[in-house]
Amino acid sequence: MSGLQVFNSLKKEKEVFEPINEGLVGMYVCGPTVYSDVHLGNIRTFISFDIIYRYLKYLGYKVRYVRNITDVGHLVGDLDQGEDKIAERAKLENLEPMEVVQKYSNGFHQMMDTFNVLPPSIEPRATGHIIEQIEMVQKILDNKLAYVKNGSVYFDTIKFNKKYKSYGQLSGRVIDELFSETRELKNQSEKKHPADFAIWMKADDRHLMKWNSPWSVGFPGWHLECSAMSTKYLGEKFDIHGGGNDLKFPHHENEVAQNMGACGCTPANYWLHTNMLLMNGRKMSKSDGNTITPLQLFTGESEHITKGYSPMVIKFFMLQAHYRSTIDLSDEALSAAEKGYKKIMEANKFLQSIEHTEPSEISEVDAKITEGIKGVFTELDDDFNTPKTLARLFELVPIINSYKDGKAEFLQIKSETVAALQKCFQDVIFDIFGLQDEYASGGNTLYDSLDGVMNLVIELRQEARSKKDWATADKIRDTLAKEKIVIKDGKEGTSWNLN
Ligand code: AMP
Ligand code: ZN
Repeated sequence: MSGLQVFNSLKKEKEVFEPINEGLVGMYVCGPTVYSDVHLGNIRTFISFDIIYRYLKYLGYKVRYVRNITDVGHLVGDLDQGEDKIAERAKLENLEPMEVVQKYSNGFHQMMDTFNVLPPSIEPRATGHIIEQIEMVQKILDNKLAYVKNGSVYFDTIKFNKKYKSYGQLSGRVIDELFSETRELKNQSEKKHPADFAIWMKADDRHLMKWNSPWSVGFPGWHLECSAMSTKYLGEKFDIHGGGNDLKFPHHENEVAQNMGACGCTPANYWLHTNMLLMNGRKMSKSDGNTITPLQLFTGESEHITKGYSPMVIKFFMLQAHYRSTIDLSDEALSAAEKGYKKIMEANKFLQSIEHTEPSEISEVDAKITEGIKGVFTELDDDFNTPKTLARLFELVPIINSYKDGKAEFLQIKSETVAALQKCFQDVIFDIFGLQDEYASGGNTLYDSLDGVMNLVIELRQEARSKKDWATADKIRDTLAKEKIVIKDGKEGTSWNLN
């Protein structure tokens, strides 16, 4: 057994992590709704769970990590009314709903690769599991915890709460409070209680994505897919369920209710929730312009930043906050993260190059290093505390630098201690944090290199223009446009941008 402790949102306290089956971990994380480009907040959540996944594997567990793709049932407004987010986008972009799903799933996967986030073991889609969802609705109906009204099926929260006394346990909501919150909704008349929620919805004629069911031609409620797919791939009871803390209610609360309603047991033993990404102290939000896309961050094309930052610097910045704390994105914080990232990469580069000679005397530095390494893993074991883990690594950096300077007491360490330190840095930086060394090839990031090439291209175009060689100048511009690179001529000179 490891010394791992995790903060369980269900109990609101840290607990020793003990999987149901020794050596195996089943983990389900709510994936993206693929109706638009993935944003940095989503990316933060998926990076956090990637580190959890990587560390569990590092500890020797065989992990089955299921992260779904939501491609039906998630309605605008996150409740039981309004249009499906995917269908709305399909109309807007004049595409088939499945083209929307494919387009934004591809973009999501690309972004996960850019940030070196590992793919999950299984990535099921809601539309691929309609039969399983219908079966689950039927089970809940058989258990008399749901009712049919005009072709839609609603979960009976009042009956459920009478039986299990647990509705609201995860999110801390009280049914009576919910009553007042949801009073205004349109479909309310079909519900026996405003806190009831749809598990199957009858579709109207205009609705694009719909399937046959015993109750109507319709579609599943948003929360149902996660209950059905986690049960299918991880069993009725599994170890970890995760997602952003904005999903606690109603999504996760209703998931728990559905699983209990169908099978009589809570699905996951440990519920892990990540906190939100802010920008300049406020929630990142598209509606008030307080937002920045990953591409803008990479290229620096945004009023919120003074320059571009590489994906690994952005990831390093995210590691500097614990996953349960909010994190505030700002130019200063990114700039500081860039320095930190370079410092640790440089220290590690030197560390890995050390060829140590066993000394005749051992100094007290040896014990300090061993203690330091222990500290690194104590922090990771403490609910995956990445900022404290980084702090522990940084405490070891001066020792590495002093070794470089050849100070005697720093050379007087056992070879096995040097090897342990090399392994610790290598494992934590690359295997557990999933960082990549962007400075490995000559100190440049990919974006720095591209910027260098682009400055040369712009210079060549300027030369052509000054010689009135319009054909060459236009050829350069058109070829770049084909590669989705736009060049703009302004008062301050010519700049480039990724389209
Ligand atoms: P969605 O695509 O909206 O279903 O969200 C996918 C995941 O990203 C969920 O786990 C959300 O909780 C999470 N998420 C959404 N916004 C943010 C944010 N600003 N910061 C961190 N995580 C977020
Ligand atoms: Zn979910």
